[in-house]
Amino acid sequence: MKDIAKLLSGFKNFQRTYFCGDNELFRDLNQAQNPKALVIACSDSRVDPALLTGCEPGDMFVVRNVANLVPPYENAPGRHGVSAALEYAVKVLEVEHVIVLGHSCCGGINALMSPRREALGEFIAPWVKIAEPALTEVSAKLQGKDEHLRQRACEQAAVLVSLENLLTFPWLWERVMQQRIHLHGWYFDMHKGELLSYLPEIGTFETLVARCATPPK
Ligand SMILES: [Zn+2]
Repeated sequence: MKDIAKLLSGFKNFQRTYFCGDNELFRDLNQAQNPKALVIACSDSRVDPALLTGCEPGDMFVVRNVANLVPPYENAPGRHGVSAALEYAVKVLEVEHVIVLGHSCCGGINALMSPRREALGEFIAPWVKIAEPALTEVSAKLQGKDEHLRQRACEQAAVLVSLENLLTFPWLWERVMQQRIHLHGWYFDMHKGELLSYLPEIGTFETLVARCATPPK
């Protein structure tokens, strides 16, 4: 129960900030939300995009799943959770930025790379297979290289797969072409505590926010 008590105490802090004083944020948010960014992040407990970016309620629309993946557009009937959120963010909320946020130490990408992938569970293996093109690319390029290096490359390549898949949604593609929506591929390096961004001009992830000058010991 200690863990639940921590959650309730956290909610009380949140309540104090937004509901007990003169903070008027929710007076507006009760009418409507108007986030400018959709973030697709991993379910991993260490990579909460709102915490990482210091966002307030209403700032970002978020989809989280294993390995921050976007499946390609499919119009076959199904329970397309990511696609539904994407549709709402793009068509209804009219977000201006879509950010795919990958990260280091990703268990989902680790599962994708595992030779025992199929044994990991009935849902994980077929889900992470969305990023199979990333694995194929990295396996060819970095064959025999250090495992950590391969995993990092695969985590970053999977972000690019999701960005490519985003463009298979015709209404999103159209808005990107019209520059009404900007796509971003980010990568949170939790070893260094820094944020990287994919630069299509040079085809690599480069530092967006550098690590602290004096990292914690
Ligand atoms: Zn992850």
